[in-house]
Amino acid sequence: MRLESEHSAPIKTGGNNVTYIIAEPCVDVKDKSCIEECPVDCIYEGSRMLYIQPDECVDCGACEPVCPVEAIYYEDDVPAQWKDSLKINTEFFIEIGSPGGAAKMGPTNTDHAQIAALPPKSE
Ligand code: SF4
Ligand code: SF4
Repeated sequence: MRLESEHSAPIKTGGNNVTYIIAEPCVDVKDKSCIEECPVDCIYEGSRMLYIQPDECVDCGACEPVCPVEAIYYEDDVPAQWKDSLKINTEFFIEIGSPGGAAKMGPTNTDHAQIAALPPKSE
């Protein structure tokens, strides 16, 4: 499933509409190990977590094993307690669209409303 945005650039994934997503364990962790592994720089920094741009992700899976808190999942494998993660990752980009590279964009200083509303995580 994709949400269209008037700001979106053309889809680059060849029509594959299954993707990797980042779930809640990333919240307030954000160590950014995944960014180092991503060949297409499609992992964008929010205030409290990172988000994968579903149209830019090429589904290579390189990010998934390096996450220290197991926050990254293939869309079909997201545990039930984080089933909103696909919606959250997708909706995060409604306004941002498909910038074509997280490094050049830098931190967005924002979060999806569901993430922003979470209580701070204690250690
Ligand atoms: S699956 Fe690959 S392309 Fe997608 S976010 Fe992870 S490293 Fe980047
Ligand atoms: S590696 Fe995991 S915890 Fe670290 S920023 Fe990426 S998704 Fe978040």
